[in-house]
Amino acid sequence: MRDRYAVVGHPVAHSKSPQIHAEFARATGQELEYGRIEAPLDGFERTVEEFRSQGGKGLNVTVPFKEAAFRYCRSLSPRARAARVVNTLVLTGAEVFGDTTDGVGLVADLTRNLGFELFRKNLLLMGAGGAAQGVVQALLDAGVARLLIANRTVSRAEELAGRFTGASACGYDALPAQAFDLIVNATSAGLADEAPPLPEQLLGNGVLAYDMVYGRETPFLAAARRAGARTSDGLGMLVEQAAEAFFVWRGVRPETRPTLAKLRAALRGS
Ligand code: NAP
Repeated sequence: MRDRYAVVGHPVAHSKSPQIHAEFARATGQELEYGRIEAPLDGFERTVEEFRSQGGKGLNVTVPFKEAAFRYCRSLSPRARAARVVNTLVLTGAEVFGDTTDGVGLVADLTRNLGFELFRKNLLLMGAGGAAQGVVQALLDAGVARLLIANRTVSRAEELAGRFTGASACGYDALPAQAFDLIVNATSAGLADEAPPLPEQLLGNGVLAYDMVYGRETPFLAAARRAGARTSDGLGMLVEQAAEAFFVWRGVRPETRPTLAKLRAALRGS
């Protein structure tokens, strides 16, 4: 029987993870199957237990269960312990190991796919939810000069920044006039066709504006493009974090560019 993996979330029907992992498995010759599981909002643990009892080997975890997954794990990677969110579960017998691959995925997309050098750069990270929590350590590890976290609920940004040496926090109304080299939108605002209230003067020429939402031009990206900034959605991050999860499970690192190109072409065609 093939090893079984899946993505668990609510909702999960839109997830591109099954397609991505099927591409990776084909390209690397790994025998596995990968599905989708929609867990009830109050039934994350039950759903994982059931998958495990049926011999499931691993799960990707998406909205809104990344914090529940962190609490559920019996052991954690150092990066998951720092992030306090888990997006990758490794299930071996009674053992449940949790990892967080979003940070590595974002940094890989920025540096390898977009050619953006993070070392000594000034960064603004918008949002303090699961996605933002998952990437702070990886951005700091890349040697950025400054990482400022802004969030609508300022106390959440302060709590998040307070956990990491080298990060600071503020509300959108207190953002400094200073120019940023990179602005990452880790909020879910784009899904509702909204944008965080970012002062327009921060979106000028020379900035890379990155939205973790993918497959659409969010209002944040549209404003950045109009202001002359370089822009990117989060499709590359999605593929790169999946490649890292595949490596954690299978010990094999798939090439990401062909899969990213296929997904991009499919999104353009739809
Ligand atoms: P989450 O835990 O629900 O957090 C949502 C965040 O967005 C919070 O910080 C929230 O602020 C903020 N927010 C929501 N609406 C806003 C608005 N209108 N204006 C300003 N801020 C707003 O969600 P998440 O797990 O962090 O995910 C965030 C996004 O990242 C999702 O769209 C997800 O699809 C995407 N994502 C993409 C990837 C990828 O691989 N590309 C990976 C992970 C996540 P408050 O705290 O004030 O409520």
